[in-house]
Amino acid sequence: MQKFKIPKEVLGIAETLQKAGFEAYLVGGCTRDLFLEKTPKDWDITTDATPEEIQKLFKNTFYENEYGTVGVVNEDTKDKSLKVVEVTPYRIEEKYSDKRRPDKVTFSKKLADDLKRRDFTINAIAYDPVKHDIFDFFKGEQDLKDKVIRAVGAADLRFAEDALRLMRAVRLATELDFAIETETSDAIKKHAGNLKHIAIERIREEFSKIVMSKSPMRGILLLHQHEILKYITPELEVGIGIEQNGDHIYDVWEHNLRAVQHSADREWPLHVRLSALFHDVSKPETRRWSDEKKDWTFYGHDVVGGKVARATLSRLKYGNEMIDTVGKLVRWHLFFSDIEKITLSAVRRLVKNVGPDNVWDLMKVRACDRIGMGRPKEKPYRLRKYESMIEEAARAPVTVGMLKIDGGEIMKLTGEKPGPRIGWILHALLEEVLDEPKRNTKKYLEEKALEFAKLKDKELQKLGEAGKKKREAEEEKELAEIRKRYHVE
Ligand code: ATP
Ligand code: MG
Repeated sequence: MQKFKIPKEVLGIAETLQKAGFEAYLVGGCTRDLFLEKTPKDWDITTDATPEEIQKLFKNTFYENEYGTVGVVNEDTKDKSLKVVEVTPYRIEEKYSDKRRPDKVTFSKKLADDLKRRDFTINAIAYDPVKHDIFDFFKGEQDLKDKVIRAVGAADLRFAEDALRLMRAVRLATELDFAIETETSDAIKKHAGNLKHIAIERIREEFSKIVMSKSPMRGILLLHQHEILKYITPELEVGIGIEQNGDHIYDVWEHNLRAVQHSADREWPLHVRLSALFHDVSKPETRRWSDEKKDWTFYGHDVVGGKVARATLSRLKYGNEMIDTVGKLVRWHLFFSDIEKITLSAVRRLVKNVGPDNVWDLMKVRACDRIGMGRPKEKPYRLRKYESMIEEAARAPVTVGMLKIDGGEIMKLTGEKPGPRIGWILHALLEEVLDEPKRNTKKYLEEKALEFAKLKDKELQKLGEAGKKKREAEEEKELAEIRKRYHVE
């Protein structure tokens, strides 16, 4: 008999239910993880008690959702995974007309009813933590041994009912390194189109889990093979068969996948992984043949790619911070690293453009780019040298806040009143310092501030806004030109 060690908080809840005359089983992901000798992330109990009966038995409870799930709160535990244990009555789900939620949920007195509504055999094993009984009507334990994802019952019907299961199948196969059984796999392909009916947030959650797994490359390939990827990010699939130039041995698609895989091998965070995945997303649309070079060119794929990555992530409803960071990392991934020709002020500008907080992540994306094209080393000498230059540049100011003079001092010195002129002066000073960091001394800046204060509004505004606007305008112009040249919108 299989006996698992169960935390006392969870065991206590099962015992309380059973002493009151109800059944209580661990079920779903936690049982699956116990069999796999992994520590469950959360604990789910299923029971023949009704929500009202559950609530009567425990001091601190709340309704988790509209399907009768009761959250039982363990007040005294510090372990986050034990704080709330979900207790759900046995459920029967009837008719799904929206491809996601059952039209009607009824409670049942039979464990078997509850297990057969679950998605995969490995998620449909019930374990009694008190008596150590196992109920495994769908041979989930065998599938765990064989490392197979198999739908409970008729795969075709199960995916037709709820299209989120399409994503869950691939996500679990990826996280667990399991294969998807043939009938299940065929059914996923057949119902791929139903993903359109699923809330994008739910799709994104599963997609992020795939990207955060140990094998995102395999996961995304599985999404593609099951014809689901096109409903998530068709932008990536455009890279299939797009040959590259120079030393590239992989097509754009495989290169992006190998890049994201490297980010996972290094256990880098989600924003780095997404940037690696999308860094060359716009190579297909910017590819042009050069007769002169006798090779393909991809001018502007960084600029267009930054925009496309932003658009893709906003469509997937990622948060603004994620969108902005990934957008910047993709936009600047092509930074120039020929140390023979590069100047510190160019590095400084890159730090300013990508943001001081992101510049090291940009180096990680570059590492993914290199490994993704089959290079043996993450960092050749010139990249390491470049990093030392960043270090140097990072000490120089990249925002007005880092100037050795502030708005108050300028007002005192020049007699200027509060207003836009102060901002213009600060920005004009910043441009001076960006051109030559040695100028960031009080003495120099005071002199310059006095000089700037003599200017008329118009001239001063022009100076002050020049730097800021210049960058934005250049970027827009470049983008417009590229798009016009390549006939893309
Ligand atoms: P994780 O390890 O990510 O928590 P999980 O399988 O536990 O994976 P949950 O969302 O916590 O996923 O769901 C708990 C259980 O509820 C599942 O194991 C499965 O039995 C059932 N379940 C969840 N979503 C569905 C679904 N869409 N259709 C059918 N059963 C589902
Ligand atoms: Mg779970």
